[in-house]
This record gives sequence, C-alpha cells and structure tokens, in this order.
Amino acid sequence: MRKPPVVKDVVRRFMPGVHRLVVSVRQKRAREACQRYVAELFAPEDEALRSLRREMAAAGLPEIYISAEEGRLLQVLLKAVAARQVVELGTLGGYSAIWMARALPEDGRLITVEREPRRAELARRYIARAGLGDRVEVRVGEALQLLEPLKAAGPFDAVFIDADKQNYPRYLEWCGDVVRAGGLVIADNAFKGGQVVDDTVQDDEVRGIREFNRRLARDPRFTAIVVPTRDGVAIGVVN
Ligand code: MG
Repeated sequence: MRKPPVVKDVVRRFMPGVHRLVVSVRQKRAREACQRYVAELFAPEDEALRSLRREMAAAGLPEIYISAEEGRLLQVLLKAVAARQVVELGTLGGYSAIWMARALPEDGRLITVEREPRRAELARRYIARAGLGDRVEVRVGEALQLLEPLKAAGPFDAVFIDADKQNYPRYLEWCGDVVRAGGLVIADNAFKGGQVVDDTVQDDEVRGIREFNRRLARDPRFTAIVVPTRDGVAIGVVN
C-alpha cells in the first residue's frame, strides 16, 4: 500500500521556496553546532583569554578579534613550521597574540604591532597576566611605518596579518621579503563578511582584501589557500 505523503514531501513539492529556506536554516544550524563542537573540543579558553574577551567587550572594542578555534588554528600552523620568530600586524587587545605566543618555544619571540596606544596597553597587561611578557613585544604605531625597522628583526617564520585591510597587499609584499622559505603568511578576514564576493561593494578595504587574495593565489612565491573559518583565514607557504 502507498504511504501517505508526509508534510515535508508536500512542502518540497508544492512550496519549493519554503523547502529551500528550511534546508538552509537547518544547514546553518548544523554548521554552527559543528563550529561549537570544534571550539569546545579543540580550543577551550582558559581564564586569561576569557577575561580578556570580557574586558575587550566592556571597553567597547569592536568584536573583530579572532575566534577561539582560529586561535587554535594559528597555534597548529605555527607548530607545523616550528615557528620561533613571528610578527603580528594588528594586535587589538592581544587575544590572538596570546594564542600564538603559547605555540612558541621558550626562546621564541612574537612582535605585535598596534596603532592605538590604549589597545596596546590592554594587550600588554593581558600578555603579562598570561605569563608571556618575555616572549611578546607590543610595538605602537602604524603598521606600514613600522615595517621597515621591523625588517632588522627578521627573517621570520610566520607573519599574521590582521591590521587595516586596504594595506593588505602591501603587507603581503613585505612578507615576500621577510618570511623565510617554508614559512607562513597568514591573514584574517579573507572574506570580509562575504563582501569579497559581492561586486556591489567597492570600498578600499574590500578592494585591499580582494587584491591580497588574488596576489596570494597567483604569485608563484606562495602556495596558498583560504580556510573558510568564521571570516576566512588565508594561509600561504613561502616557496
Ligand atoms: Mg580580523
């Protein structure tokens, strides 16, 4: 005997738009649940990271810092290349710096650059609280202006780019000079909230990221990919 159609079959057949919406909501929920699963299993935050996040929120800092699982991804990448000398462009409150510094050996060093003195101060305080003060140096100033003097501290095993987006292509150029062969260029916000694929958005920041992604993809000096995390993390190995 033929089974009577269940509601979902009727919806699929007669209301395809509603059906697509239900499927996409379900997929989104599943993706978010998987993301939470990965974060809880692989990237639990300790008290230092949790309280830093609370203080950044209380201080009204924009919620643009990386997620815990991206922090863990940075650690995995740094460990994979046995990183000892690392640069970060764009400290914000030091959240990503703490994740990265914890992946360095005792004699490793992370130089992180922040344009806003108050953010740099917050970062220094929390980096010290996490017991990483000896491994991390926070430099204050415009990243673009600090690149030249930074060269002297290189070559570097990895550079993490998370500063002003319009200058991403220039930061990439610099990385081509200062990151050792086999080292990494990593950049946050490769998707810019999805705007990279939205042609109606043409501001300097999105253009900067599109150009960065294009160069990273095509420049024979790098073997690269974007990992579709929260907002896309671009990863390039220097050939
Ligand atoms: Mg970012």
